[in-house]
Amino acid sequence: MNEQEIAAAAEAIREADTVAALTGAGVSTASGIPDFRSEDGIWTEYDPNDFHIRRFRADPEGFWDDRIELVEDLFGGNFEPNAAHEALAELEAAGHLDGLVTQNVDGLHQQAGTEEPIEIHGNGQRVACTGCNRRFEADPVFERVREGEVPPTCEQCGEVLKPDVVLFGEQLPKHELLSAQSLSKDTDAYLAVGSSLTVEPAASLPRIAAKNGATLIIVNLDSTGLSGLAEFDFRADVTEVLPAIADAVVNGT
Ligand code: ZN
Repeated sequence: MNEQEIAAAAEAIREADTVAALTGAGVSTASGIPDFRSEDGIWTEYDPNDFHIRRFRADPEGFWDDRIELVEDLFGGNFEPNAAHEALAELEAAGHLDGLVTQNVDGLHQQAGTEEPIEIHGNGQRVACTGCNRRFEADPVFERVREGEVPPTCEQCGEVLKPDVVLFGEQLPKHELLSAQSLSKDTDAYLAVGSSLTVEPAASLPRIAAKNGATLIIVNLDSTGLSGLAEFDFRADVTEVLPAIADAVVNGT
């Protein structure tokens, strides 16, 4: 890790009026959560077609049986926020991060203390009613599924419950996407963390920011789709670089 570059990136954040961040799978895998798309990711073990919105609509029973299995595989362990989540929460608390967009569905940003992350792929710790659109905590619903209520239904209106995540074949939530885009347009510094920045539309967010003059700071193990646009391109562990940046921003070291 290059100390001078850390200090320079920290200065760009400190001097910015508005700072935004986008986080991807690399921030979750650092907490031990399996990746979806990598070579030995989740979709090598599961068939993505089983988790398609068409399958949910046609066969909610089968969908929920498979979903519970996937949930245990993904979130069966006791996952906790890591140093990258904490560094982002620290930046926000110190007034140096104005909005955080995440592609992750594990809720770890909230656990670390980030106030209201914009969750463009939803949140797996909630379920949504397909009838009345109410949201509920997922764990009690998962428990009902394990006990045989398949598919689980809404206690308010009786319709089928769906995990509150974006399934294959589903549009990203409009409101969240618009918020994420307007945040990108309106920011002086943009941190893109733990994402290969190749999957649209998430990849377009830092691009919009850079095109509108923001300083783009990328932290990812490998080269990304937007590395060429970045002022700072840290190819290193997110749990090392982010705390170093946050520390330099907050404490001026
Ligand atoms: Zn309902």
